[in-house]
Amino acid sequence: MKRFLLLLLLVGLCVVQSEARNQVRVLLRVQPETKKFWCRYTLTLPAETAPAEVLLNLNKQYKIISVESPRVKQQRIERYLYPVFQDTLQGINLSYAIQDRRAKEITVTYEGTLPAKYATNEVLELSGHTNWMPLLPYKEYEVVDYTLDVEAPKAYSVISTSPPTRKRAEQYRFQGATCAIELTALVAKRFYRLASTSAVPSVAIYKAGSPLLKLDSLLLGESERIIAFYNQSIGRQDAIKRFSIFLPGTDRDAFAMLDNATVITYADFDVQQLEYRTILAHEISHKWWGYGAYSDYNDWLNEAFATYSSFLYLRCVGDTASYRQLLNAKIKSATGAPAIIGFDKTKYNYATYRRVIYDKGSVVLATLHQRVGDEKFFAVLAKTAAQKTATTDAFLDIVAQETGEETCRWLKAELMR
Ligand SMILES: [Zn+2]
Repeated sequence: MKRFLLLLLLVGLCVVQSEARNQVRVLLRVQPETKKFWCRYTLTLPAETAPAEVLLNLNKQYKIISVESPRVKQQRIERYLYPVFQDTLQGINLSYAIQDRRAKEITVTYEGTLPAKYATNEVLELSGHTNWMPLLPYKEYEVVDYTLDVEAPKAYSVISTSPPTRKRAEQYRFQGATCAIELTALVAKRFYRLASTSAVPSVAIYKAGSPLLKLDSLLLGESERIIAFYNQSIGRQDAIKRFSIFLPGTDRDAFAMLDNATVITYADFDVQQLEYRTILAHEISHKWWGYGAYSDYNDWLNEAFATYSSFLYLRCVGDTASYRQLLNAKIKSATGAPAIIGFDKTKYNYATYRRVIYDKGSVVLATLHQRVGDEKFFAVLAKTAAQKTATTDAFLDIVAQETGEETCRWLKAELMR
């Protein structure tokens, strides 16, 4: 009976949690020939969490056609410098009556042209780095439930981080849950596809523009090995079953998204080179390391964990020399850097942010690893990943549970030093 009650309680908690999540509905119309798009974005804030004042940020390059929200008392749009992106954005300010406790629905209709960084003659890339949607400040990486409808001319295909749940002639529907900033649509006349032969993990490469090369099959093989290692270690309680690798050829950066996908925009991404192999392992691990707030020091739960995970992969495949070499470089860079706990990235330059959040964070994890040994360290990582840990305090609790109070106290001191 006790167990049954506990189960009921857990089910109840899960329902409450998913109800409290923000909901996003997007209708996106694209014109690849002109690189123009039109978007109607609807955000629903649940009654439990909707505040009386809402601010939504939108990229300054896009033209707002309308902002609608039932029961809104006042609305104004003004440009301001948003410190997290270090960029001027359009702030859409909405005020409601304080006693208005109902869910709030806000629809922003806007249009624009994608800059060359995200659009070529071959592809339109609307992804986690394109900044193409309105976003709540400081909540860009909060998980939302979404429906994304994309309309593209007949000659084009549209892909996203998961297969479409509905497809009509020129309309694709994608649904799921991911970070607010990471809704993804890639549009091209043709995607060259290469998929793994194994069922789990099932990895597929989608390349726009030019046919697949030997480098791409090497990339597929390396990705399969990385995912297999993670599925047995950090991800053993929440393994990757399907993974997509997008190669849009927009030649800019590489990054990964929470929803089992990575975008690699470089045409010469050769995993035989240590640098690229490490980047790939770092990015894939973000499937588990993506819950810390991007705008504050909890970002070390994303970036230091992803960095150290990539080092663990090198060690696993027997490349201990590279593991040492990369770790030593981080130790050197972290020396004298400000403390992780309380680090305010808006007060420092990008280089210092990297030193603290990526480098010092990785060194702290390596030191913890050395102190507690493989078994306990991987137990900590697997639990941190499975619990979608978003705060340093929650991580410290896991460390206390798995390795004891003394190590937890030591770790906290390291993070404050
Ligand atoms: Zn990263």
